[in-house]
Amino acid sequence: MMAPPNAFCNELEQWVYNEFIGSVVIIEFNPKNSAALKELWDSIRPIPDEDEEGHRERDKLSKETHSSTGFIVKESGRYISVLTCAHVLGPAFKKEKPITSSKVKEYFVSRILCDHRERRYRNGTETNREYIEANVTEISCENDLMLLTISKTIFANYCNHAHRVIPMAESYPKALQKVVLLSWPGYRHRTAVTGETSHPGRLISTVSIGNPYGFKMRLAEVNITSEDGSSGGPLINGAGEFVAVLHGGYGSGFSFFICLSDVRKTLTTWGVVH
Ligand SMILES: [Zn+2]
Repeated sequence: MMAPPNAFCNELEQWVYNEFIGSVVIIEFNPKNSAALKELWDSIRPIPDEDEEGHRERDKLSKETHSSTGFIVKESGRYISVLTCAHVLGPAFKKEKPITSSKVKEYFVSRILCDHRERRYRNGTETNREYIEANVTEISCENDLMLLTISKTIFANYCNHAHRVIPMAESYPKALQKVVLLSWPGYRHRTAVTGETSHPGRLISTVSIGNPYGFKMRLAEVNITSEDGSSGGPLINGAGEFVAVLHGGYGSGFSFFICLSDVRKTLTTWGVVH
């Protein structure tokens, strides 16, 4: 009997997964003072007094941990930098009232869990999930991006496995090219999905009815589904480079990614790339 055809193997996609799954982390943002956070949210995006359910829901959210996906975007002499999205902070900013990175630190404690430590927890080597505190150093409220840094020495003590930098691509793939999204929504590490590129740069107004955060970036459209905690995940091409950063789904069957040129502009401003 002939061996079955091998077309389901997705060798390139598996290579991308194996190369970079250790570069993807979950970032948790814990409110330092939920009453103060609710006050901030209320000042940025007020809820009418009579909307009791709205207030109850916001009250609940201001006490919860918020998480997003991040990935290693730079390693320099002393620091490791992790890129994620900004909207994980909830309605903490809008166009007229952007938030600064030092302000973010007043409201949230941010910490990172890496894939290797998660696996140690899952196989019973560790009884608790071990996180490492990270420092929010940059935020772009316009482009929904945020950068966190950790001292390399402290990170090496936390985990001695490799956390490779995912390099940024020179250009975005043409339409209908295969791409891979790696992400970590909630407690589901190693979430991996493949899709194909569609339109490279939609306007927010084309995909969303409102734009309460006042985002300005263009969105690359890809035919994959995603969920809240996947935001910030890298979209990776067949050369093993990231080509966009997950923004969200807007309830459609597609996902929308912060386009490469807006990511590049932001990272250049921050001195992460040149
Ligand atoms: Zn690790």
